[in-house]
Amino acid sequence: MNKRSQKAVNYRLGDPMRQCSCCQMYRKTQQDQFGTCTEVTGKITAYGVCNRFSALNNPWGNRLTNQTRAMLARCYAYARSVGPGR
Ligand code: SF4
Repeated sequence: MNKRSQKAVNYRLGDPMRQCSCCQMYRKTQQDQFGTCTEVTGKITAYGVCNRFSALNNPWGNRLTNQTRAMLARCYAYARSVGPGR
């Protein structure tokens, strides 16, 4: 399968609930700031995310409800909107 460019999948800063570090496609094998992705080109940081995100299954169980996930997403978006540099 051909990888897609970071621009094509809107690669951007993620948040703890949705980021490359907990995506099925993320790969990292070396002590380095960046890893790779099976679907997206270039260097990929664990803190990014893109439109192709697919969450890893949590071996302890996926315990958050959709309402809780939505609330946390709003909290992260708000924190980012008022954070440093804004
Ligand atoms: S598919 Fe997107 S979110 Fe998942 S590891 Fe690749 S770049 Fe990150």
